Amino acid sequence: MQVFFPDNPGNLSVYRELIWIQVRSCLRDWGMNYIYNASLFGLSDSRRQFLKTSAKSVGIAALYPWFAGSNLIGAHHKSGKTFGIALVGLGNYAMKQLAPALQETKNCKLTGLVTGTPEKKVKYGKEYGIPDSHIYNYDNFDEIAKNDDIDIVYVVLPNSMHKEYVIRAAKAGKHVISEKPLGLNAAECEEMIRVCKEEGVTLNVGYRLHYDPNHMEVIRMAKEKPFGDVAYVQSEFSFTIGDPTQWRLRKALAGGGAVYDIGVYCIQANRYATGEEPIAITAQEYKTDPVKFAEVDETVCFQLEFPSGVVSNSTTSYNARTNRLYVGYKNRGSALIEPAYSYGGIKGSINGESMGHEPVNQQAHQMDGICKSIVDGNDSGVSGTEGLLDMKVVDALYKSLAAGGKRIKIS
Ligand code: NAD
Repeated sequence: MQVFFPDNPGNLSVYRELIWIQVRSCLRDWGMNYIYNASLFGLSDSRRQFLKTSAKSVGIAALYPWFAGSNLIGAHHKSGKTFGIALVGLGNYAMKQLAPALQETKNCKLTGLVTGTPEKKVKYGKEYGIPDSHIYNYDNFDEIAKNDDIDIVYVVLPNSMHKEYVIRAAKAGKHVISEKPLGLNAAECEEMIRVCKEEGVTLNVGYRLHYDPNHMEVIRMAKEKPFGDVAYVQSEFSFTIGDPTQWRLRKALAGGGAVYDIGVYCIQANRYATGEEPIAITAQEYKTDPVKFAEVDETVCFQLEFPSGVVSNSTTSYNARTNRLYVGYKNRGSALIEPAYSYGGIKGSINGESMGHEPVNQQAHQMDGICKSIVDGNDSGVSGTEGLLDMKVVDALYKSLAAGGKRIKIS
């Protein structure tokens, strides 16, 4: 066993804690689980305590850089154990995309379900081989804290419920992934990020396109600038929404309309295609069906201004079909992804030539990537901060709409 000693331990209790974490981690890696468990304070909630302590050490790592390099953060996962994921909210996205994707992942697997519908408990429990002991409802959800087979809780509920379940999952000592939009506004996102930090767990957002090779190419071009700086970005994502009774059209559950649901993809794309944070927004709203869209926005166009002077132009709508990302560079180059935001069939080209990427299972790559980032102690690129930065833009967007399209600074 190699134990690392801080150069300047400062506070004695922090020092003792650091050594203790390393000893426990080694015991666990050596398979001495009994001694490992006994080494934890308060055997009852051992895993939660360990998770908290490990992730608090990520914060401590800032004070003691040697500790970050010691590979002890998430060390038990390096010993071969895969992360267990519980899906919360067994609707379309969870059961048509995420659960099937979890059959293809390498670093994680589906080990738990949370549903308020007894029929779904029976149906999906059987389909995915999840025992009753690992299926929770919204009332007994917090008992998930005691389930050592569940490391990550993935919240796939209507937007207004993300905050509550992210916070409850974090308080149960689980790492958390939330679907987009992370919260209903920047303040909610800040609260979620704070609680996850306090509880010593990671928070990530289901931004699957960060794991699509076409979008990764655009992100790379913003960094490496093969055609110079970005000059202009255009992003559009719209679809024609059906059922007028669905939660996506209810402000209390959805937060807003197309902007909250799919406009966030455009905001994300504008940000990663430029590699910059927007400083101001101007937005316009158009409504053709004031009955169906009585509570939420139908079509919104918005322009973002970036510090370098780049401008992006975006449209998002529940009453059209658009699915495109265009990036123009200063030195006669351009990237086009169309369709850009679908689960599959994404086609990217640079200066008219296909990027030539094979299709990937975005969700499987996303969940494996997030798990790897937890093990490595790295920023996943889709952390809660990404969700927060997008919601700052959304907050400013609605301020602009409320002010009749006035230019609003984004802070
Ligand atoms: P959905 O309506 O199909 O599923 C929502 C689930 O939440 C259902 O199982 C429903 O029973 C449950 N639920 C619990 N309480 C509810 C309530 N009060 N009202 C309505 N439903 C309730 O929705 P979905 O399309 O799966 O979307 C869920 C989340 O996933 C949303 O936040 C959405 O933005 C996100 N999403 C992300 C992607 C992506 O590509 N990343 C794609 C689709 C949806």
